[in-house]
Amino acid sequence: MSLTEFKLLRPRTLNEAIAFLAKHGSDIRVLAGGTDIIPSMRQKLFEPHYMLDLRRIAELRGIRSKPGEGVEIGALTTLSEIERSSHLKQQYSVLTEAAATVASPVLRNMGTIGGNICLDTRCLWYNQSLQWRKACGFCIKKDGDLCHVAPGGSKCWAAFSADTPPALLCLNAEIEIAGPDGARRLPLRDFYTGLGDAYRKLQPNELLTRIFLPESSENYTGVYRKLRVRGSIDYPLAGVAVTLRRTNGHVSDARVALTAVNPAPVLVKGASQALEGKPVDEALAELIGDLAARTAKPLTTSALTPEYRREMIRVFTKRAVLAAANN
Ligand SMILES: Cc1cc2nc3c(=O)[nH]c(=O)nc-3n(C[C@H](O)[C@H](O)[C@H](O)COP(=O)(O)OP(=O)(O)OC[C@H]3O[C@@H](n4cnc5c(N)ncnc54)[C@H](O)[C@@H]3O)c2cc1C
Ligand code: SF4
Repeated sequence: MSLTEFKLLRPRTLNEAIAFLAKHGSDIRVLAGGTDIIPSMRQKLFEPHYMLDLRRIAELRGIRSKPGEGVEIGALTTLSEIERSSHLKQQYSVLTEAAATVASPVLRNMGTIGGNICLDTRCLWYNQSLQWRKACGFCIKKDGDLCHVAPGGSKCWAAFSADTPPALLCLNAEIEIAGPDGARRLPLRDFYTGLGDAYRKLQPNELLTRIFLPESSENYTGVYRKLRVRGSIDYPLAGVAVTLRRTNGHVSDARVALTAVNPAPVLVKGASQALEGKPVDEALAELIGDLAARTAKPLTTSALTPEYRREMIRVFTKRAVLAAANN
């Protein structure tokens, strides 16, 4: 599958990058590590005339500790850098654990945290060649008007399938979005729409620039568990992140988040309240597993059946809660 010809724009500053986005409107796409967008372009899911290569913008790289605030991560920081950061490993271990499960070492050397947060949603009917999609009459997410997964409906259910966002949700992360009118900061949980075809709140003239981990989320025990077909290299088919803090053997604060089973990464409803103030035992971990299985809405967008993926969310959540409590 060949790439359609495009012009590569390589700004050295953020301002230059924003100016390129403003100039080319919907005819330009952002390239960070390229590990997802390039294969998608080969499948003709995107055919822009311009590509904005961010990799020369030094200000978008790096992990910086901010005393009294937490940690700031540039959107272009690679997943390998995150995985290897001793500071993150010590203070925000759920993030390094999740980053270490993404794809394969080579892809983590190229792939960025910004690209992981902005990753397109996935579906068996969408991540296919043009010929394949054409033969099936296309679908709502690209070029068509029906959904093969939920026929009769008008919504796209493609699954959000990145590994680091559930960990970031558990850490109460915030992100910075830059555009022609300056920068805005918002909680990551407000970035996603829950719609498979318009999954993120990002205008075509905006860029994700930084991720903030608050100091108040330091030192939680964290666990990430992921279901995938090939252990060595694969997108998640179900994923769960847990962060937990205990005082005198009782949970004083906790969060549980899921990925790959909804069109957005989501915090499990009621999990924090159910855990707070209690010692963790089998029965409580099982209850959190049940809450997670209720939050998960897997459909036939992905390999493995929805029933199996939902059950694995239940099992992984229970195990992750017990593991976090015993860390
Ligand atoms: C074989 C294979 C296996 C994979 N397995 C996994 C996996 O297990 N888990 C997983 O999470 N991912 C997986 N991926 C996907 C991908 O490698 C990662 O998600 C990676 O983090 C994407 O980052 P990137 O920098 O390469 O993004 P790119 O491909 O450059 O971009 C991805 C998307 O984000 C947008 N984007 C990137 N940066 C910004 C920014 N700063 N501002 C605005 N928009 C931006 C791009 O325009 C594009 O839409 C896999 C990919 C392949 C090919
Ligand atoms: S969920 Fe439906 S509309 Fe969305 S990509 Fe899959 S088939 Fe297409």
